[in-house]
Amino acid sequence: MRIDIITVLPELLESPFSHSIMKRAAEKGLLEVVVHNLRDYSVQKQKQVDDYQFGGGAGMVMMIEPIDRCINNLKTQRTYDEVIYMSPDGELLTQKLANRLSLYQNLIILCGHYKGIDERIREHLITREISIGDYVLSGGELAAAVVVDAVGRLIPGVLNNEMSALEDSFQDNLIAPPVYTRPAEYNGWHVPEVLLSGHTANIEKWRYEQALERTQQRRPNLLK
Ligand code: SAH
Repeated sequence: MRIDIITVLPELLESPFSHSIMKRAAEKGLLEVVVHNLRDYSVQKQKQVDDYQFGGGAGMVMMIEPIDRCINNLKTQRTYDEVIYMSPDGELLTQKLANRLSLYQNLIILCGHYKGIDERIREHLITREISIGDYVLSGGELAAAVVVDAVGRLIPGVLNNEMSALEDSFQDNLIAPPVYTRPAEYNGWHVPEVLLSGHTANIEKWRYEQALERTQQRRPNLLK
């Protein structure tokens, strides 16, 4: 999968994909993230990408032209499955959506800044809008990094069997069961006996019951 991210702050996206699972996905050739500096597509001398909003009011608005030029340039090189705009009023990112996006080949993610982007970009160039939650960030970069991480680890082949995404929370509408590691006892805090029993069927059963109980307690809406 290839993901092109369009931003005015490329520096913010230097690190998130250079470590751990995202790094491995890149090394395996399964995920390529390319970050584009929107200012490179500005036709103005000052590399301006934003302007005052019509009708007045505080805050700058990102202009159409640099974004249009950048997206068009990318589209001449390959076909994109979606052109995504990160937006607090977009569709909420869920594991289900991440699963769906992980099956695509090419994605563009546009990060907004300031007051947001000229509405006409959303009407004519954007095919999907995604929010990472009901709060407002200063820019779309961290939100885009969240989407790429959530989607990237689901690309077939990125995770190995032992860390299969199928056992993660939300994957089957259940919260993941609790996990423990050595030592088996610390300060009198004990690991549940069943996990030390070596009895695979009992362990599976316990984990399923825990997942169910946790989901009932913490996210009962998932069980509906
Ligand atoms: N004025 C806008 C917010 C602009 S915040 C409003 O009230 O809706 C600046 C940029 O940050 C947005 O263009 C968007 O790209 C990004 N952003 C902010 N909050 C976000 C969220 N919860 N999810 C995804 N992107 C977000």
